[in-house]
Amino acid sequence: MKAAFLGLGAIGWPMAVHVARAHELAVWNRTAARARDFAAQHPARAAATPREAVAGADVILTCLPTSREVAALLDGPDGILAGAARGALFLDCTSGDPATSRAIAARCAAAGLAFADCPVSGGTNGAEAATLTVMVGGDAATVERARPVLQAFGKRIAHLGPVGAGHAMKAVNNALLAANIQLVGEGLVALVKAGVPARAALEVLNASSGRSFVSEVLVPERVLTGAFPATFRLALLDKDVGICLQVLRDEGVAGPLLERVGEVIHAARAALGEDADYLEAIRVVERQAGVELRG
Ligand code: NDP
Repeated sequence: MKAAFLGLGAIGWPMAVHVARAHELAVWNRTAARARDFAAQHPARAAATPREAVAGADVILTCLPTSREVAALLDGPDGILAGAARGALFLDCTSGDPATSRAIAARCAAAGLAFADCPVSGGTNGAEAATLTVMVGGDAATVERARPVLQAFGKRIAHLGPVGAGHAMKAVNNALLAANIQLVGEGLVALVKAGVPARAALEVLNASSGRSFVSEVLVPERVLTGAFPATFRLALLDKDVGICLQVLRDEGVAGPLLERVGEVIHAARAALGEDADYLEAIRVVERQAGVELRG
């Protein structure tokens, strides 16, 4: 198959590496040097425009910050719709929002393209290992066409409902992740101030009912070590919590705790900047308390 991948960011790049191994690939990135670097390292052609990337492609994959950037790439003389062939499959791996994706799907349908939202979970490590979970929203026929393509980087491909269902699922997942980061940070900082060493506290927590992926993996590997590797921007997590809160509003569900998580993560983003990693939200808790979770 001929594939096009647009958006070679922290997670898009390793996903595209797997697509390049399975299919004939053209890549496009806003900062063109990154697409050229990719093509120098992997079997792929660097395209100068979205139109050029998608020309002749059977499948088009996008992985951009939000659905807004995806929608913006559709139009214009160099846009996706100017180059895509009727019958092509458009799979958006952005952690986007359901409403914008439904609008994108309608525009695609009018141009003869099949669309599915396909956000991923598993982080940059999961992308490198091709073990991502892919949360798919779309009609059954489109999802069956998408499955073999998504298997290039995905281990679990879950069809969750119509267009937008994948985004809703991803947003709720990430809001729960954000809540967990904040809660584990607050609890551990209090324990350290109370005289319990951070690692001892985590060992007991992880053998007890309060444990989570955050306490079992993320905090020991990235916070206690002080490593804070840059894998997923806090700004993107803040965006995800915002999408989750919109899903709750759309469905008429009250979410007082998630609303509060949204405020706290938004404030952390404002304090730490657009390039901070998501686990650095814990630094804000540490600073307020005057202790660090290291050891
Ligand atoms: P990055 O910030 O690392 O990369 C963003 C990508 O989008 C870059 O290729 C960037 O291009 C491009 N881009 C930004 N703005 C525009 C624009 N206006 N027009 C065209 N391209 C643009 O993000 P990630 O790769 O980390 O994330 C991508 C998506 O995947 C997000 O929705 C995120 O929430 C989601 N995600 C990320 C995970 C992770 O672990 N990083 C995990 C799961 C989901 P340029 O190089 O020019 O800046």
